[in-house]
Amino acid sequence: MKKHNFSAGPCILPQEVMQKASEAVLELDGIGLSLIEISHRSKEFVDIMEKARSLALELLGLEGKGYQALFLQGGASTQFLMAAYNMLENKAGYVNTGTWSLKAIKEARLFGDVVEVASSQDHNFNYIPRGYGIPNDLDYLHLTSNNTIFGTQIKEFPKTDVPLVCDMSSDIFSRQLDFSKFDIFYAGAQKNMGPAGTTLVVIREEALGKVTRKIPSMLDYSVHISKDSMFNTPPVFAVYVSMLTMQWLKDLGGIAAIEEINEKKANLIYSEIDLNPVFSGFAAKKDRSNMNATFTITDETLKDIFDEKCKEAGINGINGHRSVGGYRASMYNALSLESVGVLVDIMSEMEKKG
Ligand SMILES: *Cc1c(COP(=O)(O)O)cnc(C)c1O
Repeated sequence: MKKHNFSAGPCILPQEVMQKASEAVLELDGIGLSLIEISHRSKEFVDIMEKARSLALELLGLEGKGYQALFLQGGASTQFLMAAYNMLENKAGYVNTGTWSLKAIKEARLFGDVVEVASSQDHNFNYIPRGYGIPNDLDYLHLTSNNTIFGTQIKEFPKTDVPLVCDMSSDIFSRQLDFSKFDIFYAGAQKNMGPAGTTLVVIREEALGKVTRKIPSMLDYSVHISKDSMFNTPPVFAVYVSMLTMQWLKDLGGIAAIEEINEKKANLIYSEIDLNPVFSGFAAKKDRSNMNATFTITDETLKDIFDEKCKEAGINGINGHRSVGGYRASMYNALSLESVGVLVDIMSEMEKKG
């Protein structure tokens, strides 16, 4: 039986995408060869890469707006340093909303002055800071749109003339945003787009070329752009599956359509958390993530029963991250409303037992 997969990442992908991807491993589109044994310079793969890059810009509403989409390797973690390498000449600002921002800050410090303009560390990162000042001499301001671990999400982005750089790993393609507000944003594929192994990086071309340092080719956005994201052998399987997922999303009606479903899923679980005394939400209400719902069980004596019921129902991956504890239900694009319903039904049964 297929489980209800609430894993935080790698995570659920659309079933039809996995079906198609598995077929392509055996034989790609009737060409007598596997996807993973053909040259990345073959017409077949070049077409796949071009489709992936153009679908990304199309879904994000950035076609013809001076942006480029790249599919790179090294995870979002490599983007922590690559963004700074390419963009940080003097001083950059970072909003610290937890683990991922901290890692980005650590890497950026290797390249210039880093100012932490705001932090929610004082409450174990259970909220998104607001109303902070942004110095106007920053090379860029770095944000994490959704904190996967703490279950917080930026609902309103700061209004500033400072260029914005954003880690969107865990909520890319999940909600409508004006993506043209960002100079650079990136997302490891394994949260909402595909298997681990590639990272989508979207860059406003005019934002580049402003640092004076020399940049090694593999870490230079301009090099990757000039080679159409094929400077070296790309992660062909991860790019192909990401392309299929984006095609799935487009066929569904794009980001607007999935956003509506994602809101329904989030409302369903958060209203249960709020009404049910057996559970308590971790993140501040107005900053709650529509992707990762974090909560604890208030009556510890019910924990074993709850865990057992979840297991019986085929619920996978709801243990919280070790820095928060409790539970985390990740509800990425491919997770159905029905799966959330199964979890919420078990939560509400717990109330009757309590
Ligand atoms: C998972 C995650 C990362 C790390 O991604 P890797 O691809 O493993 O390097 C970075 N930022 C956020 C917000 C994440 O959720």
